[in-house]
Amino acid sequence: MRKKFVAGNWKMNTTAEEGVKLAAAIAREAGSLPSDVAICPPFVYLQTVASALKGSRVALGGQDMYFEAKGAFTGEISGAMLKDVGCAYVILGHSERRHVIGETDALINKKMHAALVAGLLPILCVGETLDERESNRTMEVVGRHVREGFKGLSAEAAGKVTIAYEPVWAIGTGRNATAQQAQEVHAEIRGMIQQMYGPAIAQAIRIQYGGSVKPENAREILAQPDVDGALVGGACLKADSFLAIARA
Ligand code: PEP
Repeated sequence: MRKKFVAGNWKMNTTAEEGVKLAAAIAREAGSLPSDVAICPPFVYLQTVASALKGSRVALGGQDMYFEAKGAFTGEISGAMLKDVGCAYVILGHSERRHVIGETDALINKKMHAALVAGLLPILCVGETLDERESNRTMEVVGRHVREGFKGLSAEAAGKVTIAYEPVWAIGTGRNATAQQAQEVHAEIRGMIQQMYGPAIAQAIRIQYGGSVKPENAREILAQPDVDGALVGGACLKADSFLAIARA
């Protein structure tokens, strides 16, 4: 039985003070949550937020990282640095990084390998645009994101990955995928993992849904058999709504 996993992607939001308050409010309630939880603040607040989480069961994650271990890469952050400030997770291939920053599948795959070498647990985001869905190319695109993201990973490494299915048209738009749409794609992704790594890894791997998840729609989406949690953007910036999703 897979335990649900709810992660909050703060994106480029909060001040240090707001971040600490938000983290502390989540940490206070975390003991009673039925799911695993993680929060992913901006890089500059990781260390302060880590202090606010001390002793709680809320894990910390980075929103991205670079694939090189160290050196002359101005502005970048390594996996070891994320580890060093207390991160367990790192989000990779988020649609904003794919579509706004221009990250490719090949770059994301390098980051996947580097994250695992650094001892981090990657949350690999995959998902189609509205155009791609409307031209019936959802599984072609999602399939490519999964195949290329996992390229070269051993079964042992693959078992450490969480996949987040995040249709681009649902992110930050208020328009979530229906529970059925999410379940359909999640089941296909699990089938792909089974073909690539066998039934044990496929049954164990957690596949989160992301895209306008709110307390009002979380219960129905999270009740789907292949939906193992949520990656939450907008609704994770208020402790109450993030906690309500984690309770759902
Ligand atoms: C996200 O950015 O990962 C996300 C799911 O955002 P939102 O919940 O705001 O749609």
